[in-house]
Amino acid sequence: MNKVPYSPDHDLSGVGSLDELKEMALSCSRCGLRAECNGVVFGEGNPGARLMLIGEGPGAEEDKLGRPFAGKAGQLLDQILGAISMERFEHTYIANVVKCRPPGNRAPRPEEARQCLPWLYRQIELISPALIVLLGATALQNLVDPESRITRMRGQWLESKSGIKIMPTFHPAAVLRDPSKKRPVWEDFQKVRDEYMSLTNI
Ligand code: URA
Repeated sequence: MNKVPYSPDHDLSGVGSLDELKEMALSCSRCGLRAECNGVVFGEGNPGARLMLIGEGPGAEEDKLGRPFAGKAGQLLDQILGAISMERFEHTYIANVVKCRPPGNRAPRPEEARQCLPWLYRQIELISPALIVLLGATALQNLVDPESRITRMRGQWLESKSGIKIMPTFHPAAVLRDPSKKRPVWEDFQKVRDEYMSLTNI
């Protein structure tokens, strides 16, 4: 992964638990987004999950409820997970590139992502998943390569330096806008399921 270097004043490597990290993140105001939203959406799921899903940032519904993927895209995500016999709270942990809602649901700006990503990287280290699904271009570009295209990269396994297998796919909101993306996303999640099964020997 294209890991953002910790700035000396944002070194989270000593934070030993997800609960402690969450408590710290909830009072973060390192970028301008926090002033314009209801609150920080830290992430949710099984802290011991082998599979982590990473989206872009909270939308209106997520900002209101303080939970990731709580709106229509989240409903679709739950259906996709259901189709591979997974359930978000049992099998996954879900987080976003930025933890505060960008106004008008715009994509996060590079500086906002830069300030926020250390939280996500520490989440990844503490959860230590075997697999990560990157949901959409923002997650792909901020975690892998700013120049990469989701249309080209989706469906292919990548691997982080620490050995995490990474599958980029289209964002569920993109599927809602363009149903022709449904099949590729379905195929990508089949690969995720197969890999998950081979890891966990279920
Ligand atoms: N879209 C995202 O990328 N993340 C959410 O949490 C909700 C919608």
